[in-house]
Amino acid sequence: MTYLTNYVLEKTNKPLQELTNEEIYVQLLDYVKEKAAKKEKNKAKRKVYYISAEFLIGKLLSNNLINLGIYKEIKEELAQAGKSISQIEDVEPEPSLGNGGLGRLASCFVDSMSTLALNGEGVGLNYHCGLFRQVFRDNQQEAEPNFWIENDSWLQPTDISYDVPFKNFTLKSKLDRIDVLGYQKETKNYLNLFDIESVDYGLIKEGISFDKSDIKNNLTLFLYPDDSDKTGELLRIYQQYFMVSNAAQLLIDEAIERGSNLHDLADYAYVQINDTHPSLVIPELIRLLTEKHDISFEEAVSIVKAMTGYTNHTILAEALEKWPLEYLEEVVPHLVAIIRQLDELVKRDYSNPSVHIIDESGRVHMAHMDIHYSNSVNGVAALHTEILKNSELKDFYELYPEKFNNKTNGITFRRWLEFANQELADYLKELIGDGYLEDATQLEKLLEFADDSSVHKKLADIKFNNKLALKRYLKDNKNIELDENSIIDTQIKRFHEYKRQQMNALYVIHKYLDIKKGNLPKRKITIIFGGKAAPAYTIAQDIIHLILSLSELINNDPEVNQYLNVHLVENYNVTVAEKLIPASDISEQISLASKEASGTGNMKFMLNGALTLGTMDGANVEIAELAGMDNIYTFGKDSDTIIDLYATSGYHANEYYQDEVIKEAVDFIVSDQLMPYGNKERLERLHHELISKDWFMTLIDLKEYIVMKERVFSDYENQDLWSKKVIHNIAKAGFFSSDRTIKQYNDDIWHS
Ligand SMILES: *Cc1c(COP(=O)(O)O)cnc(C)c1O
Repeated sequence: MTYLTNYVLEKTNKPLQELTNEEIYVQLLDYVKEKAAKKEKNKAKRKVYYISAEFLIGKLLSNNLINLGIYKEIKEELAQAGKSISQIEDVEPEPSLGNGGLGRLASCFVDSMSTLALNGEGVGLNYHCGLFRQVFRDNQQEAEPNFWIENDSWLQPTDISYDVPFKNFTLKSKLDRIDVLGYQKETKNYLNLFDIESVDYGLIKEGISFDKSDIKNNLTLFLYPDDSDKTGELLRIYQQYFMVSNAAQLLIDEAIERGSNLHDLADYAYVQINDTHPSLVIPELIRLLTEKHDISFEEAVSIVKAMTGYTNHTILAEALEKWPLEYLEEVVPHLVAIIRQLDELVKRDYSNPSVHIIDESGRVHMAHMDIHYSNSVNGVAALHTEILKNSELKDFYELYPEKFNNKTNGITFRRWLEFANQELADYLKELIGDGYLEDATQLEKLLEFADDSSVHKKLADIKFNNKLALKRYLKDNKNIELDENSIIDTQIKRFHEYKRQQMNALYVIHKYLDIKKGNLPKRKITIIFGGKAAPAYTIAQDIIHLILSLSELINNDPEVNQYLNVHLVENYNVTVAEKLIPASDISEQISLASKEASGTGNMKFMLNGALTLGTMDGANVEIAELAGMDNIYTFGKDSDTIIDLYATSGYHANEYYQDEVIKEAVDFIVSDQLMPYGNKERLERLHHELISKDWFMTLIDLKEYIVMKERVFSDYENQDLWSKKVIHNIAKAGFFSSDRTIKQYNDDIWHS
């Protein structure tokens, strides 16, 4: 049991005890990298390239130790030397290569591809400042650059480099890789992160503003740079093309090296297009095959069609990219001719303008190109895929019913259970053995204990211990005092109107006023929010501002703070999620039905024994089916009703605002009580938005939400009943393992 001690002694000539946490972190990093270097790359003739603008990978040290099967041993060895593994985990910076669910999904997927020993790799960009770091000042969000790359890191430079041609210049790339280890596997894959040679931090001015026109020095500076003006939009096109041109050149080189004559390229490679950001890979592959490799246009099109699949992640129209042809002309003119040809082929066969690639105003619909020129189109939860087929992409479904398929999202249980909730994982092993690690459906064995009150007691103890751990974390890192004896109700995700944090905030107001009136809850309630808002998204900023203002008012009101606390945790990221989820009792999944494609946060909570309070949206529908309606709290209008309301413009916020309970909560936003904590302009704008436009229908479900939330709190008081529901949730969470999702991708789409 001296994995590390001898290694460290050899490398540093010092015993483990004498090293600082920072030094131990670096030793562990090298130790893991050396182990990983000895593993063989997965081989299979057809290699999968999962191209994604984001990989929200989270810290890697502990995840790698778990996958190597030595986490416990290292933890023990460190403890013997008087060191704490969690303090060493704290030293590692969290990579900032992703934004939200889509990027986290891509990261769970590369973990599962390695665990299933598939020949499948991620391809993306190595953003030096990534997504901004969120800080709160004056109850408002501010954005700061998030420098996360240190000298000692998981990135491994390679000598792979390509020329990427733009209209006015050519940029040389370099490739850094991160080893992706599977769970207890002898083989590995890579996460491929392309970069430019000279990133200039000097371009950054105030906050995260920077010179967006200096492409040669800014291309990999930020993820999702501000695109509210033309230079910003052009920069995004530069980034996207740089990403996919590198991916395409890499995959062609690798296929040739493995014996492809390129006519058979589709036997050697499959490209999964994660959302529309990598869509230019289609014309780029066609360009490379025709211009560099002498393949006819017709044949190139059919090769590319046979080797690409598109994943749709959203039905929000504003999130489906449409680039003006003239912008593409300015950045990648060599692709424009190809895109025009692809569009002409479509127009020749189909007169319906809704399926054309280039519309009448000359905008290129990236998703349309993906659907016509790939062989698979998948949604990310059962309901979402049905909505794609029956409404959003109905015209395409009629053309290509055989292309459409569902792949309900998943999460890696190594990170979201084994690592994040170690005490629960240990207890599960005691109860049902460790078979669930390889076959997550074995969690169902837990159902046997559904009525066992000693199991109930133990699960409650574990939850309490996780609350204590969270309390320490929030105190040390986020300046928050958590009451570990309160019920913890958590909504953590990107801020967006469709996710309806504002509805939860209106509940908070309602509860505050109710307590003021003397209706005291049986047990203290802590409502926790976490999430970033896009810097240019004003209403989302206003919602953050409302919650921070409410938090200041309520947590400082001695009449109320014994019964209700509200916290918004700064800079929500994977590390924060790993602490919050295991400690939560209630999982808030309250999106407007039809708008959340899947969600994956909902799955993490379910696995960690929190009960879902949610709408019948995204994967919540499947959670309800699996766990059973007795074991989830659902409310609100269903997706058919909502889709119909949009179609008929049938929702009028003002009608709901006439209701007394709703009016009281909404008007509190601009009340004399709240105004001293807030910014008048922000609060008034939000108030106005809610009673006039309210595009995402906050008020439609508010009354039902309040009623159901009270029911949840009251059920919590019956701890045996509650624990029984918890057991049903954990037991049925196996379906949401990303190993299951990836197996389905491979069986149905990739055939690797
Ligand atoms: C899981 C996860 C998400 C996605 O959460 P949703 O509730 O599904 O939107 C976003 N950010 C982080 C850091 C996550 O871990």
